[in-house]
Amino acid sequence: MALTITAECINCDVCEPVCPNQAISMGPDFYQIDPARCTECVGHFDQPQCVELCPVQCIPVHPLHLEDRASLELKYRRLTSNACSV
Ligand code: SF4
Ligand code: SF4
Repeated sequence: MALTITAECINCDVCEPVCPNQAISMGPDFYQIDPARCTECVGHFDQPQCVELCPVQCIPVHPLHLEDRASLELKYRRLTSNACSV
């Protein structure tokens, strides 16, 4: 599953640097997650790092991006192979 950031975000800047996939960026009003880059931290960590650190718990699962673990691992492999080829 990809995660998403809700409007409760207080723009504390904590999550963006901890994302191993560079999936988090500042949006028009608050931070946002690129679902194409979010693996729920599969391949890097046991727990989603942004969720672990967010002080207001505003990072739920994205309802339109429900993926099983195999899909997330595939996304992780695709992202890391892309990174290696740059
Ligand atoms: S769950 Fe992991 S990969 Fe997804 S946005 Fe959060 S830190 Fe990045
Ligand atoms: S950690 Fe939570 S409150 Fe802070 S910028 Fe990220 S989503 Fe927003």
